[in-house]
Amino acid sequence: MSTATPVRRDEVAANLAAVHERVRLACSAAGRDPAEVRLIAVTKTFPASDVRILVELGISEIGENREREAADKATELADLAVRWHFVGQVQTRKARSVARFAHVVHSVDRLRLVAALDRGAAEAGRSVLALVQVGLDDGAGRGGAACADVPALAEAVAAAAHLELGGVMAVAPLDRDAALAFARLADIAAQLRVDHPRATTVSAGMSADLEAAVNAGATHLRVGSALLGPRPPLG
Ligand SMILES: *Cc1c(COP(=O)(O)O)cnc(C)c1O
Repeated sequence: MSTATPVRRDEVAANLAAVHERVRLACSAAGRDPAEVRLIAVTKTFPASDVRILVELGISEIGENREREAADKATELADLAVRWHFVGQVQTRKARSVARFAHVVHSVDRLRLVAALDRGAAEAGRSVLALVQVGLDDGAGRGGAACADVPALAEAVAAAAHLELGGVMAVAPLDRDAALAFARLADIAAQLRVDHPRATTVSAGMSADLEAAVNAGATHLRVGSALLGPRPPLG
């Protein structure tokens, strides 16, 4: 049973319709099929009841960025057929927990984390899809590996017994043109596919820049506030 109010459900439904329309228009402008673009609803800071609403409205991919909150929601919502995406930075000591509930980890940015996630997935008897997070801001703090380190990280993920290399992820730099950043990510993704043809995921685009991401070939959009409203500042 959903504990959400009908008002909240209507609000989220209207937001979801608007996001679907934005994706449809962006695909049409880019000559892409909307079926190639998956929407991940990022629910960090929002209650589990909002995840239930999203699932009732047809969303099955849910993103979170803090380990404790994500683990709690995954436990509370174990009755739902949700694919959990972990999109936040993973501390090495939290990798084990993340590997227990996440189907996809978007933020693999260092070799130590590859090893820790692989161990965690092995212990849990699972296989986790891992994306290499690429830092497009040259170290300005939004996370991700330096572009030059991406091939080695991808190799390590591909070689890990309990991880599968899914592709790449990036967050556009705050101070630069998202279109340029996403074009660079698309180049890196194309290079990666030369050696890893099945690593087709390009996770890019958030509420503010999803059109630019669709235009640059993103396969997965991570959308939070456009679906659920403004977030309280992160504590
Ligand atoms: C919060 C978050 C998002 C969603 O951001 P919005 O601007 O609310 O759409 C996407 N990706 C990551 C990594 C995030 O932490």
